Amino acid sequence: MEVKILLGLLACCGFALVRAELEGYKIYDVTPTNTFEQQILEHLSKFEDYDFFHRPRALNVSSRVMISPEDQDDFENTLNKFSLGFEVINEDVSKAIHLERSQNTLFRSMSRGVSFSSFQRFNQINAYLDELAAKYPNRVTVNNVGKSYEGRQIKTITITNGDKKANKNVIWVDGGIHAREWIAPAAALYVINQLVENFSANKDLLTKYDWVVMPVVNPDGYEYTHTKSRMWRKTRKPSSSSCTGTDANRNFGFHWGEVGASSSSCSDTFRGEKAFSEPETQVVRDQLLKLKGRAKFYLTIHSYGNYLLYPWGWTSQLPSTVSNLDEVAKAGANAIRSATGTKYTVGSSTNVLYAAAGGSDDWAFGVAGIPISITMELPAGGSGFDPSPSQIKPFVSETWIGIKAMAQKVISKY
Ligand SMILES: [Zn+2]
Repeated sequence: MEVKILLGLLACCGFALVRAELEGYKIYDVTPTNTFEQQILEHLSKFEDYDFFHRPRALNVSSRVMISPEDQDDFENTLNKFSLGFEVINEDVSKAIHLERSQNTLFRSMSRGVSFSSFQRFNQINAYLDELAAKYPNRVTVNNVGKSYEGRQIKTITITNGDKKANKNVIWVDGGIHAREWIAPAAALYVINQLVENFSANKDLLTKYDWVVMPVVNPDGYEYTHTKSRMWRKTRKPSSSSCTGTDANRNFGFHWGEVGASSSSCSDTFRGEKAFSEPETQVVRDQLLKLKGRAKFYLTIHSYGNYLLYPWGWTSQLPSTVSNLDEVAKAGANAIRSATGTKYTVGSSTNVLYAAAGGSDDWAFGVAGIPISITMELPAGGSGFDPSPSQIKPFVSETWIGIKAMAQKVISKY
């Protein structure tokens, strides 16, 4: 009776028992040891309420998944029923997120200008680009190239050596297609920082080539992870059916929707209602088409998993120029390994991970005609997507070593 009165009071007066963000959510590592267990895990990964950080890949390779408090009993019962081994690696995600938010706020307040000791908000990233354009007008141009669904200004920065030569070849770098992968925009920002503010050390990379960088492809999602929901992955445009957001990296118009992408708007890998349904993927498409013929290297930064992946993502077949792709990706992996010991796995997306159509890398390679197209999955931090602020600098500087080596290889070949 008392409970009823309390609930009635809450309902009548607009109060809600608001849980802290992701309170009670747990993160599990689940490891299949035979093909039957792998099939069970594959099946579970299709449940929309289970947030698989990566889809199951192979025997004896663990998959990480975040489960809400309501679903934990069912999930664990299923694992136990089929004897699937698992480990809880985070007992309450909200605690880690709370700590991350307070650290970021503190470190942001302590630094002026761009910083690699905290994750930057979208406005700070754009302000940094504009600041560089004002400070280095001979070498830097910032373009407003489109708006996100919620109206945020998407920018690219074009970095040159100031020689004013038109129509040089181009290296394109983007990050932040997936909202929660915060280290990706940070890594793109570090590329910008090194090419512009550490120009004398890196000017060889700008002799024959210009660089175009779009540090945050999906700003609505990125901001949403900062303000509302840390583990959000998709864009923020509502679909005409029930749920919000599209997986921008399943939305590109090349073999769109054929494999590894969901037609359900509530899925984290929702492909969108049609190819290029999202303003954010349209912006990338239009910019790359403008650079058609000039762009020789498309690099898109994601996290996590330590992979350097090249086409195809839509089929296990390999492109005829696979040796070129492999040579560039290996140059990156080898440079990182000899510098820091960090290992990257190199291969085609489908063969190393799983088939997934509609990715930006396949489109850049297959339609925009960019001869080298690579997805770089940076290392995991925290429980995966949440490196601590103190990890940002080591991660992005290591990443830069790999990017530089790949760029040098591309520049020497094309
Ligand atoms: Zn991603």
